[in-house]
Amino acid sequence: ANFMRVIVESAGGVPDNPGFFGDDPRVGRELLCVVRALLKKIKRRVLVGDRVLVNSIDWTDRRGMIEDVFKRSSEILDPPVANVDHLLVLFSMDQPKPEPFALTRFLVEAESTGLPLTLAMNKSELVGDEILSAWKERLHGWGYKPLFFSVEHKSGLDALEDILKRQTTVIVGPSGVGKSSLINSLRLTLDISDEEEINKLLEQYERSKWLGEQRVGDVSKSGRGKHTTRHVSLLPLSGGGYLADTPGFNQPSLMKVTKKSLAQTFPEIRQMLAASEPLKCAFNDCLHLGEPGCIVKADWERYPYYLQLLDEIRIREEFQLRTI
Ligand code: GDP
Ligand code: ZN
Repeated sequence: ANFMRVIVESAGGVPDNPGFFGDDPRVGRELLCVVRALLKKIKRRVLVGDRVLVNSIDWTDRRGMIEDVFKRSSEILDPPVANVDHLLVLFSMDQPKPEPFALTRFLVEAESTGLPLTLAMNKSELVGDEILSAWKERLHGWGYKPLFFSVEHKSGLDALEDILKRQTTVIVGPSGVGKSSLINSLRLTLDISDEEEINKLLEQYERSKWLGEQRVGDVSKSGRGKHTTRHVSLLPLSGGGYLADTPGFNQPSLMKVTKKSLAQTFPEIRQMLAASEPLKCAFNDCLHLGEPGCIVKADWERYPYYLQLLDEIRIREEFQLRTI
């Protein structure tokens, strides 16, 4: 059977942000659920991160059945997680050093999901203050407020944990920057409620207060012990919120970015367009290549990257390629 782990996120119709709410002792409790056969028949796959309706809950054995899946606010494919609301783009200050064009590709890919993102730079202990402030300023110029931290020295992690609160985050970044190290260090701060305490509270609690109509399940996770597919779980964080234990793309393909949408993935361009409101570029489909009446200037650091990526996308859009 196909089991999913489900955690009780809230009780009593609390808002839609992730985190644990309500003083019902069952909040924070994990259930092992089977997926209703009918759901599978209508090809509704339950993803990790789905908000689900669970019926036939047995609180003692911690079992239940997933009856339905609520509408997703987002869905990413790599790793397959539903209702992600934040991406953490991770790079490192050294080993490997940040390479501006590679960093730009990641940022563009991350921006193209439409999800809010945070840029964070690990291994900050490997470089001096001058290099740190130079990068800080540089990235400000790109429109980002980066966080600098070090997993190894456990510095700067508070600010990072603060950002992960109340959100469901997937980390993306190239290999070697410390994604797994960061996930593992946050794994240790897990604050899973004490089992015994919960059981004691449960006895005092009136069972009838909690009934099937309410939204019950929340984060679901793929079953344990399967080694056929790459599996992902959401780690509940101590401050509320979740972190996917598997990083996302580590090689941006830019497949979802079009010539037209590329500009929107650069905060610099977004800013220039916003600043000149209500004035717009003269051409509705302006690609900001110096067309007459274009509002976007060329005097910013990443403009050459914009041009380079535009070229890449143009080629992809012009030729249809197929393996034979
Ligand atoms: P991933 O490929 O992004 O998952 O990176 P890993 O987590 O596997 O880390 C790559 C290497 O960087 C490992 O040898 C880690 O021990 C090291 N590393 C991780 N964080 C830090 C850090 O803050 N400082 C330093 N100097 N090394 C780190
Ligand atoms: Zn323009």
